Amino acid sequence: MSGRSVRSAATEQTQHERPLRFAVIGAGMAGILTGIRLREAGYDDFTIYEKAERLGGTWRENTYPGIACDVPSHLYSYSFAPNPDWSHRFSPGSEIQAYFERVARERGVVERIRFGDEVTRLELRDGGWQLETKSGRRDRADVVIAATGVLHHPNIPEIPGLEDFEGALFHSARWDHGVAIDSRRVGIIGTGSSAVQIVSAIADRVAKLVLFQRTAQWIMPQENPAYSEAERAEFRRRPELVNQLHQDMATLFAGFASGLVDANSPQMKAIEDACLANLENGVRDPVLREKLRPTYKAACKRLVMSPDFYQAIQKPCAEVVTEGIERVETGGVRTRDGRLHELDVLVLATGFRVDRFLRPIQVIGRDGVSLDTLWAQRPSAYLSISIPGIPNLFMLNGPNGPVGNFSLIEVAELQLGYILQLVEPLRRGACREISPSEEATQRFEALRTEAARNTIWGSGCRSWYLDDRGIPASWPWTFDRFREEMSKPKLEAYEQVG
Ligand code: NAP
Repeated sequence: MSGRSVRSAATEQTQHERPLRFAVIGAGMAGILTGIRLREAGYDDFTIYEKAERLGGTWRENTYPGIACDVPSHLYSYSFAPNPDWSHRFSPGSEIQAYFERVARERGVVERIRFGDEVTRLELRDGGWQLETKSGRRDRADVVIAATGVLHHPNIPEIPGLEDFEGALFHSARWDHGVAIDSRRVGIIGTGSSAVQIVSAIADRVAKLVLFQRTAQWIMPQENPAYSEAERAEFRRRPELVNQLHQDMATLFAGFASGLVDANSPQMKAIEDACLANLENGVRDPVLREKLRPTYKAACKRLVMSPDFYQAIQKPCAEVVTEGIERVETGGVRTRDGRLHELDVLVLATGFRVDRFLRPIQVIGRDGVSLDTLWAQRPSAYLSISIPGIPNLFMLNGPNGPVGNFSLIEVAELQLGYILQLVEPLRRGACREISPSEEATQRFEALRTEAARNTIWGSGCRSWYLDDRGIPASWPWTFDRFREEMSKPKLEAYEQVG
């Protein structure tokens, strides 16, 4: 820190407003939101970098049969862009993709996206970020907002022989629509939300369906009714009804979320009771029922919602295989009992690497420190948004954020509101760099990890919520507390430099 003038926020300086240039990374839900909010806030100098040729993030990449969002559509919408036309309570992925494309177009964001250009490097120089992309483009921004997503980098399991398989093989987030599945033998590895949705969607179409289950899942029997044309017409006529629906669902989810952070809460008990009744009443064959019975608390893993998974997996063509996988061979999957499960198609519904965030972008911050070094053990961030030594770079849905079945749209909206307040000192010319102090970050991290132990995610199961120590890497407090925290930055937790 030597040679740098650091001051606390309380010390106001002579100030000269300066125009700020922003670089936004990613044109998914959060990047589009950022474009819209920046314009509203009067920041017109920004570029959104998108590595793909199309916006949409998760909804562009996940196109597997049966894909839908497990947050109700009227809640999984921007607060400023209600949609009276959602077809279902949990609408399919293609509708969600179309929604983001429409909103981005209508709000003038599409023309601000630089498609097909992946940011590869960010380096802090003279209070701003030098940015490099794969195409060799260089840019400079005062502020970088990383909207790079959480469930983004497919987790490819290290199963021996994967490359030997002679059928079609792909990850659920890279569904190959050129491969026919009708009347074919399809294997699915994994039993998370993606696998469960795929099973329900394809069980009627395939000749044989083999679900390779390492861990059984609790299944919440959540119905997914369609909105009738009359209901949608009413929503169009009376927008206040859609807003009310959004509000009601937000309240419901906040209540559910408050239960998640206390493993012994009545909400968690009610969820487990509903899942247990679903299993007991929904699966006839006692042998299959025992295979599908989890041995941990409901919602310890991300709760899987499905009205029809048990029906699908009981079809004559379907089989749940709980023997561990030994290896993949040219003709199929060999399990540890020596059995070869012959397959034409093998789907890896094996989830995502959730410790990446904006990596593999190379980020070089203050005094040449790299993000890879700072995050060598595990990613962390102050309030999930920013990192000591990496000033003027803010993340949406970053490490340790609220991912516990909330609408990540609402999370990103709150975070962005916070970030826009945080850049105020930069805009006013009060400083050139702002980043959280090491001390505030360590204090936050200590409190967070302590609280995380009481959450349902820490109650004894393996899941993508856990970090390398087995501690839930999520917001461990209520959603109300998150909303309160995001309402106004405590600037004393930040260092302002220059
Ligand atoms: P996931 O929940 O992480 O599930 C991955 C599955 O793959 C688990 O069953 C895991 O088994 C299994 N697996 C991983 N490596 C394996 C290996 N080497 N051998 C055997 N099995 C292996 O992934 P996901 O289903 O893609 O879902 C990720 C998250 O995306 C969800 O939790 C949810 O937040 C979101 N999502 C939401 C929706 C929706 O809105 N409806 C749909 C899809 C995804 P273990 O359980 O034993 O680890």
